[in-house]
Formats: sequence, structure tokens, C-alpha cells
Amino acid sequence: MRTVALMGATGSIGTQTLDVLRRERDTLELVAISGSTRLEQLIDIAREFHVTQLCVSNDSDAATVRDALGNVHVVVGDSGLDELSRNADVVVNAVLGFAGLPVTLATLEANHRLALANKESLIAAAPLVEQVRRRGSGEIVPIDSEHCALHQCLAGSPAQPGRPDVRRLLLTASGGPFRGYSAEQLAHVSKADALNHPTWSMGDKITIDSSTLMNKGLEVLEAAALFDVDVERIDVVVHPQSIVHSMVEYVDGSTLAQLSNPDMRLPIAYALGLPTRFAHGWGRLGFDEALTLSFEPPDVKLFPALNLAYDAGRRGGAAPAWLSAANEVAVDAFLHDRIRWNDIVSVVASVLDDYVDDPLVNLEALRDNDARARALARERIDRLSHE
Ligand code: NDP
Ligand code: MG
Repeated sequence: MRTVALMGATGSIGTQTLDVLRRERDTLELVAISGSTRLEQLIDIAREFHVTQLCVSNDSDAATVRDALGNVHVVVGDSGLDELSRNADVVVNAVLGFAGLPVTLATLEANHRLALANKESLIAAAPLVEQVRRRGSGEIVPIDSEHCALHQCLAGSPAQPGRPDVRRLLLTASGGPFRGYSAEQLAHVSKADALNHPTWSMGDKITIDSSTLMNKGLEVLEAAALFDVDVERIDVVVHPQSIVHSMVEYVDGSTLAQLSNPDMRLPIAYALGLPTRFAHGWGRLGFDEALTLSFEPPDVKLFPALNLAYDAGRRGGAAPAWLSAANEVAVDAFLHDRIRWNDIVSVVASVLDDYVDDPLVNLEALRDNDARARALARERIDRLSHE
């Protein structure tokens, strides 16, 4: 029996992870969960799976959970996430944004498997995560569908430093809801339009990131951090059907791809089961009807987020942390109707203009950089909302 901690149990990835766990009650045991605002849902999950270790955001929520569940261990905040992430064989990090950082670091420090959906913590802390990975035996198995595809396509290749056998990684992108829009159309898109993703149903933040292509930019940085390939050898290709989840081109001319219908339960099950493949068949392709796959280059002029991410990747150090922090603040402002869709990436670009190289030597430096980028983003947003 493999024990599992599910951090961010109440969200989109969290809920789909529970679907996998329901099918694997004989092989996977859920021992710890976390949530933030959806307390009722968290309590229901604890009841259904008999979970006795829970993490919530504050003391008053902890009291509510103890009242509802009786004899359980309830911990709070960053230190709580840190504690529970050390207590399971596999830890799913499905927390949203930079708040997932304690989960990423503690799981790897405890030498366990990190089943990683939370890309923001890896992107922001890449140099620190690399140090922890080199010191111990913790492993990352990505849940993000593109990176799970790359993990599978790289499985037969020796992980030599710098991956000399790989010519490039090809990340596929659906193109989001605004693929093919003109600049004029993009100037007038609404929140409802941006939340209407053509192929995936996900949490609000990543859905907005998909509409700006910032999600793909973040994924370029995520792939560089996961697979030891620099951003110059990572390309993005738009593939509207979301069937090919990504590809590896080897130096001999072979390109390997992973295909399935879009269903996040497939990469979640892969990350929980490896080396076992569970016989669930989520996302399986029938090939009993005509299937056309198309590929096209992304429009980097209309979607400048992609080049911002490449620039941040080339600069390294704390630049990706600034990009991701500024983006989190800008997306939140957009979701609260404070700025327009077009402003999201402009805010991030303007924050990055102020970035001064910082090699990111420790956690304190990371938290400091994160706070500075957020403060600058808030300042730019205040200015925009008063225009
Ligand atoms: P959701 O917003 O649906 O869920 C986020 C989870 O994190 C919820 O459990 C939420 O708790 C919790 N949470 C939010 N803020 C905090 C906080 N400050 N402290 C502690 N916990 C918090 O997001 P998704 O499931 O869509 O995404 C989660 C991560 O997975 C993201 O990093 C995303 O980029 C990544 N990802 C998601 C995919 C998807 O298909 N959804 C695909 C690939 C990657 P509560 O709800 O109780 O407030
Ligand atoms: Mg993805």
C-alpha cells in the first residue's frame, strides 16, 4: 500500500485526484489533505477517505474542522503544509500558485515522490529545488499534462547532464479560447470569454493563463527546470485538438509523442502509480473515427507572454519568480474586474523591466524577490485602475 498526501484537495486537480484514489483503494491510501476556503468540501473528503491529518489556512478554520471531525490532527498554514508533506510516500501538490512552495520543498527534502501539478513553486524556486534534488533521493513526477508526456517520452533515454541526446522538447498548446483573434478582438475580450477554455476544464487561474499563453510560457520554464534542458531547446507548437500532449525530438531525427484525449486523471494516475500503470483507460483513443491532428506556430506578437517567459528563462536566477509572482497578482486583479485582459501581460512586462539580476541563493532571497515583484505588480495595477 502506497500512502498519499493530497495538498490542494478541494480544487480542480485535487478533485480529479480523488477520482483516481476511489478506483485504487487497494493500492493507494489517502492519509493527509489540505484546503483553504472550501472547508465543507475538505471535511467531506476527510469523512469519505477516513483521513486524520488535515491542513487549513488559519486557526479559526482549524477549530471548525476539529469540531466537525473530532479526533483528527489539524495543522495550519505554511508550517502545516510542510509537516504533512513529509508524511506520505507520494505527495500530490495541487495547491494554487506560490502558496504551494512548502509542499514542493518539504516533499523533496523528505526524499519522497512529488507528484507535481503546482508549476509556480518549481518555476519560482528552480535553483533551490535543484539543490534539494541533488542532495537527496526525492523525485518529481509531473502531473502537468505536457510534462507528464515529456516524462513518458524521455523514459527510455539516459538522464545525462544537459540531455545531449535530445535536440529539443516540443510543448503543445491548445492556443486557448482566443486562437486566431485579431489585436482588435483581443482588446475587447471579457472575463467570461477568457474563462471559456476550448479543450480543458480547470481552475480559474490556469484557465486565464491559458488564454494569455502565459501558461505555456510558465510551462517552458517548468520543462527547463524538470528536465535539465535550457529554454533555447524548448519550442512551443499550437495543436488545437489537445491530443498530442507534447513531444521529444532526439538528435537522430526521431520524434516521440504521447497521445490521449484530454483528461487530467491520466497524468494524475501516472504520477501516483509509476512504475505501475493503472488499468483505468482515462483519455484512451479509440481510432474508430477519423482523427485529424494539426500543428501551427504560436503568434508571439499577439501573445507576448511567451517571449516574456523565454527572456525570464534566459536571465535565470529570480527572473522566473518575478514573472510568476507578477502574473499571479495580475490574474487575480483581472478575475476581480480590476484590470482588462490586455493589461495582465502588460503588468507582468512592466514589473520585469525593474528586475535586477539576483542568483537566488536561499529561501529568504526567494521570499524577498516574490514579495518585491508582487508589490510592484500591485502598484502598476493601482495606477491602471485609477486611469
Ligand atoms: P484550483 O484553484 O481549482 O485549486 C487550488 C487548490 O489550492 C484548492 O484546494 C485551494 O483551496 C488551494 N489553495 C488556493 N490558495 C491557497 C493558499 N493560499 N494556501 C493554501 N491552499 C490554497 O486550482 P487547480 O486545481 O486548477 O490548479 C492547481 C495547480 O495545478 C496550479 O498550480 C495549476 O497551474 C496546476 N495545474 C492545473 C491543471 C488543471 O487541469 N486544473 C493542469 C495542470 C496544472 P480552496 O479551494 O479550499 O480554497
Ligand atoms: Mg499544462
